[in-house]
Amino acid sequence: MTAQAPPVLPLPGERRAWWLREALAAEAPSQLTPSLFGDVSADVAIVGGGYTGMWTAYFLGEMAPDARIVLLEADICGGGPSGRNGGFLHGWWEYLPYLAERYGEEDALRIAQASDEVVDGIGEWCERHAVDAWFTPAGYLRVNAFPKERNDWASTLAALERMGAPGQLRHFDRPLVQQMCASPAFGDGVFMPSAATVQPALLARGMRRVLIERGVEIHERTPVLRLDAGSRGARLTTPRGTVSADRAVLAVNAWGAGWPGFRTRMLAWGSYIILTEPIPDRLAALNWTGGEAIADSRFTISYFRTTRDGRIAFGAGVGSAGYGGRIGPVFTGDHRAIERVAANFRHCFPMLADVRIDDAWGGPIDITADRFPEIGAIHGGRVLYAHGFAGNGVGPARLAGRILAARIAGGGDPIAFLPLVGRRQRFLPPEPFRWIGARAIREALIRQDDALDAGRRPGILTRLVASLPGLLGYRFKH
Ligand SMILES: Cc1cc2nc3c(=O)[nH]c(=O)nc-3n(C[C@H](O)[C@H](O)[C@H](O)COP(=O)(O)OP(=O)(O)OC[C@H]3O[C@@H](n4cnc5c(N)ncnc54)[C@H](O)[C@@H]3O)c2cc1C
Repeated sequence: MTAQAPPVLPLPGERRAWWLREALAAEAPSQLTPSLFGDVSADVAIVGGGYTGMWTAYFLGEMAPDARIVLLEADICGGGPSGRNGGFLHGWWEYLPYLAERYGEEDALRIAQASDEVVDGIGEWCERHAVDAWFTPAGYLRVNAFPKERNDWASTLAALERMGAPGQLRHFDRPLVQQMCASPAFGDGVFMPSAATVQPALLARGMRRVLIERGVEIHERTPVLRLDAGSRGARLTTPRGTVSADRAVLAVNAWGAGWPGFRTRMLAWGSYIILTEPIPDRLAALNWTGGEAIADSRFTISYFRTTRDGRIAFGAGVGSAGYGGRIGPVFTGDHRAIERVAANFRHCFPMLADVRIDDAWGGPIDITADRFPEIGAIHGGRVLYAHGFAGNGVGPARLAGRILAARIAGGGDPIAFLPLVGRRQRFLPPEPFRWIGARAIREALIRQDDALDAGRRPGILTRLVASLPGLLGYRFKH
């Protein structure tokens, strides 16, 4: 029998991601908001119409109903990663031991609990506002990806137990993993029952609709070119108008890597997703019918979930780093990255090698030194910001929005003082060293994954380069 040729891969970056096309197709074209024209004033001006900017606007509207809020988005709301991510929605339970190391056990637990609110919070929000974003609370399975790998789940599970959060992660042995999703590549794993998935663009566009109904003034296709701030407020300059505001919020995610003041603390990195044709019968044969989100333990993490019509959306953090904070075609049109994702897909699901790939897209993720977001304020509190979600922002962006809104509204809401708030991230090396280093490390991580896939021990040079971030005190792995 002749082996079947792998399906032709779509070119990424030629059109908007499937999620966003689906969401936009369900909207009336008359819903376009106007670009900003002229000079306006506001209490709060928000830059960025992704989840962070929109949650900030939403919570601010709840906390200070009379505030005049203007939101400026360079593209359309949800046009960035918020409308094209994997839709994994979960808190930070997996990272509790790291948080405890950094903040002590009591504060770590507070942070993890606050991060966990986002799941039920988003589910309830969707219900309250009649936003059908496919909220599916089916949990999140993290599996060992390599035949010989033994991730130390035991110490994480023991830490959760000790800190009073048993059950937030459960060990799944290999047979249990196979019952959830039968892949020859999966070993044992841990399951986070509180997690969910969403259709990310339906969530983003639903948020936009609710904000418009609540009187938030949204201007899409309005890039902010300049931000000036002083003791009397902030002034934002766009191509055809300005906004003068008491406070400004920068919710620009990976674009922050190009903003003065932030560019040394964040690295933009490409993550890519492929989407299969509908294959509900094949999913049933894999036992994967529960809608669970799954990710493996690769250095360049692969993450995958199903859709309502029985497709697999399969992503991996195998793109490249951007240079100097520029968010260009490397994050949307990297065909090599898509080939990598497809190879990872075939490795996990060799029995689906013949399945057609209907779409492929990518976007930037913003990585800080410890892979946790930076949430804070500059210019005497006139300009607030939140970024650095490191590919895990669907839920945390809601937490960040609550925090930013609470800080602006005042009133002593304890969420505004979570220990995570106000800390500065460690510096990353300046360019061109950052880009050269990131590139070398990416190649080493991919080679390391390949070797482990093949059951080989990676070469010494590969191991050395791949371990450099850790040796230098950066937390580079999920
Ligand atoms: C391929 C991919 C898969 C991912 N998968 C997951 C996942 O499964 N789960 C998860 O938790 N996270 C995931 N993430 C990360 C997640 O999408 C982000 O962390 C989250 O969307 C961040 O929201 P945000 O509002 O901060 O940023 P964004 O959605 O990036 O929004 C920022 C907005 O700011 C706008 N902007 C930038 N500069 C300007 C300017 N000067 N003027 C005006 N507007 C500006 C941009 O156009 C953009 O719309 C993924 C990311 C990618 C790229």
